Amino acid sequence: MIIQKSTNPRISSFDPNNFAFGNTFIDHMVICEYENGKWGEVKVVPYGPLPFSPAMMGVNYGQACFEGMKAYKDKDGQVFLFRPEKNFARINKSAERLAMPAVTEEMFIGGLKALVDLDRAWIPEGEGMSLYIRPLIFATEEALKARIANKYLFAIVATPAKSYYTAPVSVKISDYYSRSANGGVGFAKAAGNYAASFYPTQLANEEGYEQIIWTDDSTHEYFEESGTMNVFVRINDTIYTPPTSEKILDGVTRDSFLQLAKRRGIEVKVEPIAVKTFIDAQRNGTLKEVWGVGTAVVTSVFQSVGYNGEKLELPRLSNEESFALTLQKDLVDIQTNQAEDPFGWRVLVEKNVMETV
Ligand SMILES: *Cc1c(COP(=O)(O)O)cnc(C)c1O
Repeated sequence: MIIQKSTNPRISSFDPNNFAFGNTFIDHMVICEYENGKWGEVKVVPYGPLPFSPAMMGVNYGQACFEGMKAYKDKDGQVFLFRPEKNFARINKSAERLAMPAVTEEMFIGGLKALVDLDRAWIPEGEGMSLYIRPLIFATEEALKARIANKYLFAIVATPAKSYYTAPVSVKISDYYSRSANGGVGFAKAAGNYAASFYPTQLANEEGYEQIIWTDDSTHEYFEESGTMNVFVRINDTIYTPPTSEKILDGVTRDSFLQLAKRRGIEVKVEPIAVKTFIDAQRNGTLKEVWGVGTAVVTSVFQSVGYNGEKLELPRLSNEESFALTLQKDLVDIQTNQAEDPFGWRVLVEKNVMETV
């Protein structure tokens, strides 16, 4: 691994109490180029733009996938990643489906640790604070040929993130648009999945909904995901989430919620959720909560759900009554080293990782 430190770091002008998530980038990034059938050396270099041709295959044919994960700082300044091996496995599943080369553990886990260690000062600490990390792979070959590319770039960039709190939102159950299809790429974190979801989401926004609950593409009778999150429904005291499949992304947060719920003795059912069951439960008062889960916001609680032109309201639960918020707190406490980690999910980022390599 090559480390090229920035000669012009911006960290001294970073204000952890006042920054823009997603637009503020840490001083360094990881890059690694693929050419002639193999990956080159992993490099940690100063963050900045790279030169590309508009004929780059990644932007023309969409061979591009990514990951989303976080690093957390505890009150003693120790830094942790959360289940990074899950993201490593998943980026390679995405890459395989998009006919892109797999990344190595040295590139992904090694790159993450080196980058996060070097820029640990950029990780804000305190309630709800973290560093959002974006590993990605895309085709860089300059060629207008619709085939598998021969050149790729793997990169890791990161932006400081704050506050898990998101106000309860209203969501629309999709009765026409679909996020994924049988035999498609829904399980992959393919960049194009996001592009395809923006327009239907914009239409839902115009109808007064913040997000969409995606339903299956053939009948629209079963829940799949919500926005870019996995979805959970609570009826009475049982929580339901659909099984992962080639249409439903295998979220790390979803899996963690399932394990945390079981640990609390909450009844969990991983089974398809029919829209009809959901609507019936809302009408007979047994529907208690609906929420989405994902790395970025952890939990997004839904206050109302649009179906057939009707806006159905959900009960307002206190933090203690809410399974969503209780499990969110369990998760965040483990992520930020405020609770025991019986699952072995936290991965400490050692100091001066590179000096030992
Ligand atoms: C990333 C993503 C999720 C959440 O996955 P996490 O690993 O929990 O962050 C859920 N659904 C889709 C479509 C996603 O892209």
